[in-house]
Amino acid sequence: MAVPRVVQITPLGPVSYATLVAAALTVRQRFGCQPVVVAPLPIPAAARHDERGQVDADILLEILFDRLTADIVRIIGVTTEDTFADGRNFVFGYAHMRDRVAVVSAARLRDPSQLEKAVVHELGHTFHAPHCSDGRCVMRQVEHLWQLDDLDSDFCRVCSLRVAAVAARSIDSAESLFELAGSYMRRRRHAKAVGAYRAACEREPENPHYANDLGVALLACGERLGATRAFRRAIDLAPTFPHAYYNLGIIFRERGEVVTADSLFAAALERDGDSRSAHRYLGILHQDYFQDSPRARAYLERYVALGGTDVEVRRRLRILTRRGMDELSTSSRRLIESTTPVY
Ligand SMILES: [Zn+2]
Ligand SMILES: [Zn+2]
Repeated sequence: MAVPRVVQITPLGPVSYATLVAAALTVRQRFGCQPVVVAPLPIPAAARHDERGQVDADILLEILFDRLTADIVRIIGVTTEDTFADGRNFVFGYAHMRDRVAVVSAARLRDPSQLEKAVVHELGHTFHAPHCSDGRCVMRQVEHLWQLDDLDSDFCRVCSLRVAAVAARSIDSAESLFELAGSYMRRRRHAKAVGAYRAACEREPENPHYANDLGVALLACGERLGATRAFRRAIDLAPTFPHAYYNLGIIFRERGEVVTADSLFAAALERDGDSRSAHRYLGILHQDYFQDSPRARAYLERYVALGGTDVEVRRRLRILTRRGMDELSTSSRRLIESTTPVY
């Protein structure tokens, strides 16, 4: 028997029965998933902005994200509070493309068809549909209620195919797990990311990207030995990819093994298709992270020699050059002081 594909509907604060049923119907009819309405969660004080009388949609996503388990296809939160997000006065809903969670606010919605469109639009994002400019497609970006009314409640052909392709993917396929792990990393759930990357690696042991990113997650958890192993594995699987060399270089450099680190960075540079950006990256890494001014300067000067024009790099170079002069003058002063005869 096929496992039911569950989309959890989570009321955030009090939400009417009719609204929840409407959302559940949309999930079933439009995405072919089994809707499961769970007990409401309170809206946390941290999400409330009393001065604007609104709730921060991104914090609601954080809460939903923490409720996500491996067997749930998607979670959609429904609230009657007015929500805002990231530079927008208000939003009807909010979702990031790869997080498996979305939220819809019914505060400004007046009829069931508006709610249906908002649910389809936000869930559409979680199935990798970006905003669409095709006619009346439900994935069109909407800023006003009248714009929502102008939309169909359907995806256009392109969006429909895209959503269907992602929806057909098993949630515990290597690809889905890898994507989930990326979301855990972005939301700084590093230990959970390690678990999801490990599961992805088990399903596709020959994938060098999975091995490399597992290493990054292990490093974020402070597990240097495991991270080293994962990066070496990534290099074995794909000796021509630069990423794992960079990452391994960072580990050796942190351990104070500068010579090995330098050779790993050199190996990464050799393999990097974008030599200019690579020098910029290594320059900033050495300046900010390792506080190694001479190497930072060498990398950044090379970036400029290769035609790099980033003003931020020029600012950094000015600081590095000035510091270089200061160090020089301090050491020569020391030399003068130490040789000054005592009368
Ligand atoms: Zn949108
Ligand atoms: Zn479309």
